[in-house]
Amino acid sequence: MRLDDLDPTDNARDLGSGGGGGGGFGLLGLLPMLLGRGMGCGGIALIGIVALVYFAISGGGGMLGGGGGTQVQQGQTQGAAKACDTQAELFACRVMTSTEQVWGQVFAEQGKRYQPATINFFQNSVQSACGQASAAVGPFYCPSDKGVFLDTAFFDELDKRFGAKGDFARAYVVGHEVGHHIQNLEGTSAKVSQAESRGSRAEGNHLSVLLELQADCYAGVWAKRSGRLEPGDIEEGMTAANAIGDDTLQRQGQGQVVPDSFTHGTSAQRKQWLQRGLDSGDPAQCDTFNAAI
Ligand SMILES: [Zn+2]
Repeated sequence: MRLDDLDPTDNARDLGSGGGGGGGFGLLGLLPMLLGRGMGCGGIALIGIVALVYFAISGGGGMLGGGGGTQVQQGQTQGAAKACDTQAELFACRVMTSTEQVWGQVFAEQGKRYQPATINFFQNSVQSACGQASAAVGPFYCPSDKGVFLDTAFFDELDKRFGAKGDFARAYVVGHEVGHHIQNLEGTSAKVSQAESRGSRAEGNHLSVLLELQADCYAGVWAKRSGRLEPGDIEEGMTAANAIGDDTLQRQGQGQVVPDSFTHGTSAQRKQWLQRGLDSGDPAQCDTFNAAI
């Protein structure tokens, strides 16, 4: 992708390093939660302490005000100065800028105003409005925060663990999470989580698959409309989408495949819907809920 001319987004925060923890509820990830759901109580207590320490260190609430020193400017986003400062963060921040341009235009065409997501960088674990989450769950989106959460160590994992190299593999990951943000703005995620709470586990999993495949398609729509793709990018994206399909991950992890437990779609489906977005550049083509899947 050609992104070098883009300024990093202003909608970025660096939340630093948290303690250990499990997956939170209601968050929309890139990966199936193979590690299981649920939050540990110890984790909640720990994150409370970590948060206190964090606020003390960063000067939030004037806790380190002592002796007429530098005043923390009101209205300054917590940690904003530090975000987008590493090479990996800068890359993600430029992707976010591009998504703001593209989705801003799509929404404008529909007579609506696009409200950007915030990208939250963290290391190891993080407290979101969806609960505490470990970096082990992979990148995710929390609807209540309107936030993408990313530990950029995942970029290395993409390469080393999933064999998905290249900048567009990483950009696809961010584009997928922004896809969940679009679903949040459209009210789709709220409808799905309501339906999930009413239906059976298998029905809930199926709805989750439809939501995830739509996010893959939206990632493709963004990439196509950005006009920033270079030769080889689409193959990089397809390799990544293939690597994180439910069937592929289950085969590698447990040696067998259980379709009823799928939450994100098979490798073939993820590639298909990413491709559909890439081909069309049209979000209307991403209606997984009315497609025969
Ligand atoms: Zn997802």
